[in-house]
Amino acid sequence: MLKYRLFINGEFCESDDKKTFKSTDPFSGEEIAEISEAGVSDTVKAVSAARKAFDSGVWSGLPGEERGRIIKQIVDKINENAEKLTELEVRDSGSTVRKAGEDVFLSAKSLNYFSKIASTDFTENIAGLSKEGVSRNLVKYEPVGVCALITPWNFPLKMAIWKLGPALAAGNTVILKPAMETSVTACELARLISETDMPKGVVNIITGKGSVIGTELVNNPDVDKVGFTGSTEVGKTIMQNASSNLKKITLECGGKSANIVLDDADIEMSIDGAIYAAFYHQGQCCEGGTRLLVHEKIFDRFISGLKAKIERMKIGDPKDKSVTVGPVVNKYQFDTVMNYIKTGIEEGAEILTGGKQFGDSGLMIEPTVFVNVDNKMKIAREEIFGPVLVVIKFKDDDEAVAIANDSIYGLAGGVWSGNDERAMAVADRMRTGTVWINEYHLMSDRAPFGGYKQSGIGREFGSEGIKEYMEAKHIHIDEIKDRTKKPWYRTVVPKDL
Ligand code: NAD
Repeated sequence: MLKYRLFINGEFCESDDKKTFKSTDPFSGEEIAEISEAGVSDTVKAVSAARKAFDSGVWSGLPGEERGRIIKQIVDKINENAEKLTELEVRDSGSTVRKAGEDVFLSAKSLNYFSKIASTDFTENIAGLSKEGVSRNLVKYEPVGVCALITPWNFPLKMAIWKLGPALAAGNTVILKPAMETSVTACELARLISETDMPKGVVNIITGKGSVIGTELVNNPDVDKVGFTGSTEVGKTIMQNASSNLKKITLECGGKSANIVLDDADIEMSIDGAIYAAFYHQGQCCEGGTRLLVHEKIFDRFISGLKAKIERMKIGDPKDKSVTVGPVVNKYQFDTVMNYIKTGIEEGAEILTGGKQFGDSGLMIEPTVFVNVDNKMKIAREEIFGPVLVVIKFKDDDEAVAIANDSIYGLAGGVWSGNDERAMAVADRMRTGTVWINEYHLMSDRAPFGGYKQSGIGREFGSEGIKEYMEAKHIHIDEIKDRTKKPWYRTVVPKDL
């Protein structure tokens, strides 16, 4: 069995009370790793290592090029270990091997982007603020300080990189806390980082319960910023706790995104797109298109095509490259999803396909589609986070937009149409951080990603994303040399006798 320890101040160590927990392969049920379970005292140590490293300037004081060089060493290590990381991600999280391979590739690609960003000088000159010879005004960007990075279980390595990349590029020191369900690749990352020139204490990786070490990270006064991805419920707790010393926060939370198919859409393409939007990674994606809105004119044709294609999806062992639907992450999530299916039936929705466990072991759930759904039903309002899609009929674009926006969430959405102008008009009215037109899930390092409403606060990626890990500082350089010409000369300062 693999064994992983905490990574604090550049050293691997057991937790103070020697506690450990096990990682279990959700498909085979096999225990694959024994991982140290940090407690409050270990968390305090990790925070103080990060604090010391930040205050010493060992990282923020390096030229951006040098920070970029060291971040690039991690990129190279990820690439050299891609096969192993992919295999571990599959076994730890139940991700299909295809999705895990993509995640590892994209993690390295994103981190590479941030290695280059590290040398970017973001300083802006506010031109035209005053007349020439009066003043110059600069905005400089500086690291926030010590950042606690708290990640969920659905994209373990990728989410860790999405936070480490901008935080490190900006010059911060960090404590990364992965989800307990899927900590293995973050622990591997600690090993890879320990083989680079990263100064001690800049990156600390601790594993354990969110309610214990996550809470300590958020409450600890030596932490300046929390970057969190996870559920809206935990996001709200973090917001409350972070107020103790007014920490900066970014929250990337849940969603119930609408994927709208207009009556002029390419039917085959939008059926494929709807399946991809809803069932990628067994539906365990925050931005997933889990509410499918279909125009009444094409509804029957669309639905029968959707059912036929879904029933041909291959469910099974995530290690098999031809499988597109693997297990959900654990028994708790399996029971949660199955309960939502039960609720949907009780609410009066009708199962078009799926609805049952696939096989009798391995935590797999058939891709499930509900029709006859009203947007007021629980299955249309709450994030299920499993392979369950609800389909709602609409009569015109206004109604589609109204249904799409009738949600506490606002993370993402899709529009499928043969008319770009019409699709754009719908996209403009959707209250979400991302809208894909004739596409889904596609993200870019250079485009901001994040939520409106209860889907979160702040953005990842793009210049917006890196600035979440920076403080803006205005520097005013006055150029009026004669004191009697200063604007305040006649207001407060006593005149010369
Ligand atoms: P979760 O909220 O249960 O846990 C997320 C992380 O927070 C874990 O590391 C957990 O240990 C930690 N945590 C739990 N309680 C805490 C507390 N009181 N204080 C501090 N940390 C605490 O989420 P999950 O079940 O791991 O992931 C699924 C959720 O994540 C879904 O809601 C999904 O939509 C969301 N998600 C959002 C995005 C996004 O970018 N918006 C991306 C991926 C996942």
